[in-house]
Amino acid sequence: MTTPREHLIDWLRDAYAMEVQAEKMLSNTADRLEDYPALKARLQQHVVETRNQASQVEQCLHQLNADTSMLKTGVGAITGIAQAMSGIFASDEVVKGAVFGAAFEYFEIINYKALITTAQAAGEAGIAAVLERILEEELAMAEWMEDNLPAVLRQYLATGEKR
Ligand code: MG
Ligand code: FE
Repeated sequence: MTTPREHLIDWLRDAYAMEVQAEKMLSNTADRLEDYPALKARLQQHVVETRNQASQVEQCLHQLNADTSMLKTGVGAITGIAQAMSGIFASDEVVKGAVFGAAFEYFEIINYKALITTAQAAGEAGIAAVLERILEEELAMAEWMEDNLPAVLRQYLATGEKR
């Protein structure tokens, strides 16, 4: 039988891979945004938060005497989409990027909720508390992205700007 602790290690590794991918995607997108300063600034803020999240997840793994080396394929699907999105240079990339970015934050939220339940089941209250703090940042980012999508859309539709 696989214990909750073993699942926790496994899924924390997935979360680590998710955050590494998120950092790449966020910084690639932020770098290409020139005409959307509010979105660019919020993405840059979340790049810093995301880097921090990756190292906090890594510390959780070390606390469980595990490491990040063995990356699983479970996140392959979403990271594949993320990589594809980072490579899109269509004229509406800011819109597609903002939609995908908001959806990605909800993906992270659900993953952290699942991890918190798993950490609690494994009796790892300290790790659950770390994950709760990360979850708060993801919730704030998801809410901001969702709240600001209409403004991004209105600007894009009004100006027909390419970026
Ligand atoms: Mg994150
Ligand atoms: Fe995030």
